[in-house]
Amino acid sequence: MPIYVTKSFMPPIKEYEKYIKSIYSSGILTNQGPLSIELENKLSSYLEVKNFQYVTNGTIALQLALAALDIDGGEVITTPFSYVATTTSILWERCTPVFVDIEPDNFTIDVTKIEAAITPKTRAIMPVHVFGYACDVEKIQQIADKHNLKVIYDGAHAFASKFKGKSLLSYGDITTCSFHATKLFHTIEGGACIIKDKDISDKLELQKKFGHFYDDYKCVGINGKQSEFNAAMGLANYPYISKIITERKRVSNLYDKELSILVQRPKQQSDLEYNYAYYPVVFRSEADLLKVFDELKKQDIYARRYFWPSLNTLTYLKDKFDCPISEDIASRIACLPLYPDLTNDEALKICMIIKESL
Ligand SMILES: *Cc1c(COP(=O)(O)O)cnc(C)c1O
Repeated sequence: MPIYVTKSFMPPIKEYEKYIKSIYSSGILTNQGPLSIELENKLSSYLEVKNFQYVTNGTIALQLALAALDIDGGEVITTPFSYVATTTSILWERCTPVFVDIEPDNFTIDVTKIEAAITPKTRAIMPVHVFGYACDVEKIQQIADKHNLKVIYDGAHAFASKFKGKSLLSYGDITTCSFHATKLFHTIEGGACIIKDKDISDKLELQKKFGHFYDDYKCVGINGKQSEFNAAMGLANYPYISKIITERKRVSNLYDKELSILVQRPKQQSDLEYNYAYYPVVFRSEADLLKVFDELKKQDIYARRYFWPSLNTLTYLKDKFDCPISEDIASRIACLPLYPDLTNDEALKICMIIKESL
């Protein structure tokens, strides 16, 4: 059996079936049905956050966040070290991404470089809690307050990470999350917005439902709703969140023990309670990375180049940005396979192959 970088958690089929049967009896398939509402309630109490909006996916979550905060055509300061959806959601909302380089310790946006990128057109900052590591949320809020900017965190990886005792999803004006099948907690496809302000939350809720309430057409909206079948998967996965994290921690600790002298690892902030969403390793060079990938592939094991390329180098961008740290890290970083089903023996085999190829 090949080993991929991730494998979706599957709840016991009986437990999923129980929710599917309830859909068959209610006849409600979508449009914010009872299962979607139950999932919203469960997740918001689990995370201890208010104003939780369950949406179609983590990309629509970013787009809805930009729309609900009226960022409309402005410049958005963001990070080049992320999945491409962070950048394309800005472009899709007809805003302009302005890239600020990352700091080499945990790959999040370098807050000391944000102010130099602010112009009269800047409307928002969109950093990413990449791999579940926390951005410098306090400094970012200070800068935003000083320059009257909105803060939208792409928290696609941040589910169940805590910073200073609070969910990492609770910072900024809006934090988005993704519940895609490859993420720590999933609803097959899915996402959420966690919103500071109740009025903005109400607006975003309206916008995710085409911008109208029955016959009252209030604003431009989109279809950002989620189906009951997706919510059912979320509810079936919900009881396993702590097990999922514990198992990921087991594999991560094993990798730590075996690989710590061979590869560079991100520095953890002391105030962060980490969710073990990913296991990124930085090799000495891109050549080393490619050599390791080759050897893994021979054994049917597939790591992933996360994240590569650095997003400031996307060919369809109009403006050029220099982000040497992000470009360097992106060329040498990979995520190792990490999921609850990965056995210690499989993880040890991966470590052996890495050690031998280096
Ligand atoms: C997965 C991901 C997204 C997009 O989420 P989807 O649910 O797949 O649309 C956005 N940003 C980051 C950083 C991601 O990893």
